[in-house]
Amino acid sequence: MRASSVDHYILQALEESSEHITSAQIYERVRAHLPAVNPSTVYRALERLAHNGKISISDLGRGAMVYQSMNAGAHDHLVCQRCGEIIHLEHDRFKEIFSALEAQYGYRMVTNHLVLWGLCPACQSESEAGG
Ligand SMILES: [Zn+2]
Ligand SMILES: [Zn+2]
Repeated sequence: MRASSVDHYILQALEESSEHITSAQIYERVRAHLPAVNPSTVYRALERLAHNGKISISDLGRGAMVYQSMNAGAHDHLVCQRCGEIIHLEHDRFKEIFSALEAQYGYRMVTNHLVLWGLCPACQSESEAGG
């Protein structure tokens, strides 16, 4: 089994998926194309793709890390740390912050997926009620 075909189906799974998927879900999707693929082959390929900057890995509080292709549209999230609500944010709203960081530190920003944790309005009123 050539590593490049595993990489291909991993990236395809990430680009076709409308929501974020875990390594176990990615393995299932790769296996649909390559029935003989070993889970460890897929997990090693995920590590290599992340290391090479082809995919990004995020913690959305689901108990497992989720993956996203760097070719997929840049976007960001607000995540409620109590109930797990996930809000989708346009990446454009962070443009100014990214440009300022690039100007100040000389970095070229590659982050395409920020995860910002907080408490949603419902959970805030619950904690005020003493829950
Ligand atoms: Zn996302
Ligand atoms: Zn909440």
